[in-house]
Amino acid sequence: MGARAFAHRDLIAIGALERHEILYLLDEAEQWVALNRQAKKHVDLLSGLTIINAFFENSTRTLLSFEIAGKRLGADVVNMHAATSSVKKGETLIDTAVTLNAMRADAIVIRHASSGAVGLIASKVDCPVLNAGDGSHEHPTQALLDALALRYKLRERGMAADDFTGLVVTICGDILHSRVARSNILSLTALGASVRVCAPPALMPAGIEALGAQPFTDFDAALAGADVVMMLRLQNERMDGQFIPSPREYRHLYGLTAERLALAGEDAIVMHPGPMNRGVEIDSNVADLAGRSIITAQVEMGVALRMACLDVLTRRTRGVPGWADGEWV
Ligand code: ASP
Repeated sequence: MGARAFAHRDLIAIGALERHEILYLLDEAEQWVALNRQAKKHVDLLSGLTIINAFFENSTRTLLSFEIAGKRLGADVVNMHAATSSVKKGETLIDTAVTLNAMRADAIVIRHASSGAVGLIASKVDCPVLNAGDGSHEHPTQALLDALALRYKLRERGMAADDFTGLVVTICGDILHSRVARSNILSLTALGASVRVCAPPALMPAGIEALGAQPFTDFDAALAGADVVMMLRLQNERMDGQFIPSPREYRHLYGLTAERLALAGEDAIVMHPGPMNRGVEIDSNVADLAGRSIITAQVEMGVALRMACLDVLTRRTRGVPGWADGEWV
């Protein structure tokens, strides 16, 4: 470990982070959770800095969350919506990167439909780049906010919350197309949890064990004794062809109903990154289950976690002592 607690210029993938770096970002986020719970939620930490949110794919929570995070830290935040853009990897994407770079942003937050596109743009610009989701590759801030929400819930229950060792987390849904699943497997296993993934065979990526997750196709078996159940949406926009027989059949086998949740560990925690398809992968009475569902807490934690990421990644630009020099990885 170098002098800095977080040795990266960019935040592209959980896979690039060390366990202590994940924990550092979670620890840093806690001050912003506290600030966000106050009536006056503004500091001038990033005053004078410009943050560009460049979203080439639809988003509700993530875009709003990054925008609020930047504004609460006092930065000038500009949103570029390109949801209908036909930009794909290649020249046009590089041109976009060069354009963003020329505007002298101090941080760029990017969502793109192609896996690897955010990393490519990062290699062409001079400022920190934050990945807000690239295709089915990674969604690092989602995994970090999920870990933060879990930490708060475990602490509320009087449990050890800084190390997830012994915790069994079942992630169920369209694992094949999910960047959330990928980032969460990497982050939760780094924090010590045992991760099970469950999907119909057609939606289970080959070789998922290599990431450290245990694959299941039988949801009931995957739920047995689970402490946390994280449900994922069918990523229809990334499917080229028929992957499931019908939404009705899918719900029957892989939907989280109240009866099914009873198969998991006592008081198992329910999570979902949103957007939810109620009545498909999750029933409303489970999604809204008081004391068990932390879905709205995930959204709350998202703002604080993104404030922490924007703060940490702009420390070099701001000349914060100890962060201004040396090599970055
Ligand atoms: N919002 C998450 C994402 O952008 C999950 C989803 O869309 O299903 O990946």
